[in-house]
Amino acid sequence: MSIKDNIACIQKKIVSAAQRANRDPQSILLMPVTKTVAPEAIIEAISCGFAMIGENKVQEIQAKYSALEAFPHKTHLIGHLQTNKVKDVVGLVDCIQSLDSLRLAKKLQDRLAYEDKTIEALVQVNVSGEQSKSGVSPEEALALIKEVIQMDRITLRGLMTIGANVDDEKVIRQGFRQLAMLQQEAQQRFSHQADFSVLSMGMSGDMEIAIEEGATLVRVGSAIFGKRHYL
Ligand SMILES: *Cc1c(COP(=O)(O)O)cnc(C)c1O
Repeated sequence: MSIKDNIACIQKKIVSAAQRANRDPQSILLMPVTKTVAPEAIIEAISCGFAMIGENKVQEIQAKYSALEAFPHKTHLIGHLQTNKVKDVVGLVDCIQSLDSLRLAKKLQDRLAYEDKTIEALVQVNVSGEQSKSGVSPEEALALIKEVIQMDRITLRGLMTIGANVDDEKVIRQGFRQLAMLQQEAQQRFSHQADFSVLSMGMSGDMEIAIEEGATLVRVGSAIFGKRHYL
């Protein structure tokens, strides 16, 4: 199967899942996740009509930058960002989906002000409570949002989560549902200060559940590019 075939197959699944949930398939964005993927394959995906990609490491985005420069696209950081990498990420990515602490937000705000730039961000929430995952706890999320909304260099767009790493579909679904509820709460509470319309959840294995629970952006890697080969 080619990248193009894989994408067509995923898009069909997105449409079916949306229909099952009585949602407009157009309201769901598919973002190719290109970590460990070579620039040639990324260019193939971009030429299928994708205007944005997700990467999880700053260093990897830097390494691929020149190879991808001629192919217009936006880059979303979806992996944990260390505060000492903030200066590298500003100007390099369009959205940080993994904003997960006040300390990181403050560093970003300062650096962005210094460079007179702005950035979009999603607050990452750890709905599964798994130790291996970053993200604030659901209880801390609204407090972090309240602080970040005051920061004029960071435009909050919504929430992101990684589904529970379990076989039980009910558990995965519950986590996504919790994120959707948090989003609604944030939308109500901060409606005049921010547009909280993005709900980034669902990957190759749990994308359809996420769509049924309200995802507006799914992050799909291996189902498009095949199994990852880590160096
Ligand atoms: C790798 C990754 C994905 C994509 O995972 P697949 O299972 O390959 O689709 C999505 N989101 C995040 C945060 C990731 O790190």
